[in-house]
Amino acid sequence: MLKLKTYCVKPGKKVKLKDWNPADKSASPGTGADDARELAELAARLDELQDLLYAEHKHKVLLVLQGMDTSGKDGVIRHVFDKVDPLGVRVASFGVPTKEELDRDYLWRVHKVVPGKGEIVIFNRSHYEDVLVVRVHDWIDEKEVQRRFKQINAFEKLLADNGTIIIKCFLYISKAEQKRRLQARLDDPTKRWKFRLGDLEERKLWDRYMSAYQDVLNQTSMSYAPWYVIPADSKSSRNLLISRILIDTLERLKMKYPEPEENLDGVVIK
Ligand code: ADP
Repeated sequence: MLKLKTYCVKPGKKVKLKDWNPADKSASPGTGADDARELAELAARLDELQDLLYAEHKHKVLLVLQGMDTSGKDGVIRHVFDKVDPLGVRVASFGVPTKEELDRDYLWRVHKVVPGKGEIVIFNRSHYEDVLVVRVHDWIDEKEVQRRFKQINAFEKLLADNGTIIIKCFLYISKAEQKRRLQARLDDPTKRWKFRLGDLEERKLWDRYMSAYQDVLNQTSMSYAPWYVIPADSKSSRNLLISRILIDTLERLKMKYPEPEENLDGVVIK
């Protein structure tokens, strides 16, 4: 039986990234066919839960996806939400900030797109870029980093206090796996367009990124907004694990369909 807790960063506990193995495949039960069947079942269950979430109109769900280039953020969105009604899910992607965004505080563009009642929003990158890429490149100083950790915790508490269920996943791939995936991008004519030379510059900063991620896990995993470290060298294991975490979290909400209008029993549609 897979223990989801082992992937969760316990609030207040200091963790080291090296205690997780990016190649861990515990979430994947067997052959590729088994995985595909299991993932299809989980995706169908997620669709049921999303329907319930929408109908109940009480909770809001925010899934944050963070990870290095090629770690599989897009793949998770595509496969885990494969069967979920597109009406109930929204994706917000965060790239290099625009001038309009840079003229404001870094949470401005984020707060605008948080989920409303009954909605699931997936953050494809997030406000965490503002304590990762900008830190690794020394665009902000350490004092500002620490200030931002506090601000992020307060911001997420505000969302949680207002009914937002927050799940944060760090897709943890190894440097060797990233090498394979970047090479595959270069070699495949249909994927080559995704390759940017700038990705290699970020790759050179791998160790700094890992240390910044470790700090993020230690400073911002809260009971109301926990981080999960998702071993992501195996795509199927990654997808299965995130599906299970989402389903487990949504099932704990004990959601119920609203009561229908009274006196519907005798109604006949003519
Ligand atoms: P992806 O690489 O996720 O497929 P993009 O090609 O749009 O998507 O790249 C997003 C880029 O934007 C990444 O390199 C990321 O580090 C950068 N980025 C995101 N947020 C910020 C930020 N706040 N400051 C600077 N760069 C950012």
